[in-house]
Amino acid sequence: VVRPTFSDADMDARQWLCDRMLEAGLDAAIDGAANVVGRSPNTGPALIIGSHSDTQPNGGWLDGAMGVIYGLEIARSLLEDADTAQLAVDAVAWSDEEGTYTSCLGASSFVGPLSTTQLQATNAHGESVSQALERTGLSDRDRITFEPDRHIGYLEAHIEQGPHLETAGLKVGVVTSIVGIRSLAVSFTGEQNHAGTTPMAARKDAAVAMFEFGFLLQEPMRAVAGPTSVWTIGVAEVRPGAQSIIPGSAHLVVQFRDPEETTLERMDQVVRSLVDDMDRRGPVSVTIAAGERISPTVMDTTLQEFVAATAGKLVPGQWARMPSAAGHDPMVLSHHMPCAMLFIPSIGGISHDFAEDSHEADIVTGCHVLANAAASILRSQTSG
Ligand SMILES: [Zn+2]
Repeated sequence: VVRPTFSDADMDARQWLCDRMLEAGLDAAIDGAANVVGRSPNTGPALIIGSHSDTQPNGGWLDGAMGVIYGLEIARSLLEDADTAQLAVDAVAWSDEEGTYTSCLGASSFVGPLSTTQLQATNAHGESVSQALERTGLSDRDRITFEPDRHIGYLEAHIEQGPHLETAGLKVGVVTSIVGIRSLAVSFTGEQNHAGTTPMAARKDAAVAMFEFGFLLQEPMRAVAGPTSVWTIGVAEVRPGAQSIIPGSAHLVVQFRDPEETTLERMDQVVRSLVDDMDRRGPVSVTIAAGERISPTVMDTTLQEFVAATAGKLVPGQWARMPSAAGHDPMVLSHHMPCAMLFIPSIGGISHDFAEDSHEADIVTGCHVLANAAASILRSQTSG
């Protein structure tokens, strides 16, 4: 699926979804941030259920879209059943969770005004969010926002995008938190020179220092890591990048993720102290710059317990609590309302790829669990 934010495919999909929401009896609209919101005709308290409908440049068919369809289907099935017809579920599809322009654009708009930085963020073709809203005819529309008197929380289902549920033979993951992410950029400055005439002892090879750094980092990171910590050197560049030139500079980015802020802090210190050590030792100078920094997001314990209790009833022994290693819209939403998430297994743990898939039976089971959890949350509100 190739459905990047504000592309024709994305806008067509939003219109399609809006039509389905209207057919389901929801008061639906595409708002001024391209969010599709289908408001239940019932008075609150209401739960918001959904996900994002944009994809990565080469994305899978379930990342985001599955959670959106869960929201539509849960709103629809609750309205169809006399026992639950009075419960209110507002279905939603957020815009640009994947960051084609800026991550979690739609969710941010739902909980507050968009910042100038967000509106000026550009896609790979240099188009800004403001220009895209203009082009798609959305710039004059109102933005639909969080109603504290109506909305009691947000539920999102998503594919796991990792191998844990499948490996353990489980059907449902109840998300405890979304991992925090930090990235640190490390630059190596040596001396560019002739690769044939410069003796080894006289060299200040920035690439050698960079590769050594990548190697030396592994052991101390393992020593401070938690059970689900991950770290990646996903960017590594050598300049000027010719086989007969000793690289004068090199650059890498270390990104690490963990559900615990204290673990992130320890990993941060490991990277920084290795930078200091290598810089002091020479002959290449090593400097560090902080990049992305996202704190871990803890899911609301009350909502989490409802999802866990429902999973315990509907898929006994086949569910587990787990952190999310990928980022999701609740990173933004949870600062304003209680959030909970449910995962279903990804086949082979593959995502952000055309091969992304899940078994149909698992997709159905996840929706069944989330629908029943939603009903029990809403009933607890109306009866109490
Ligand atoms: Zn997603």
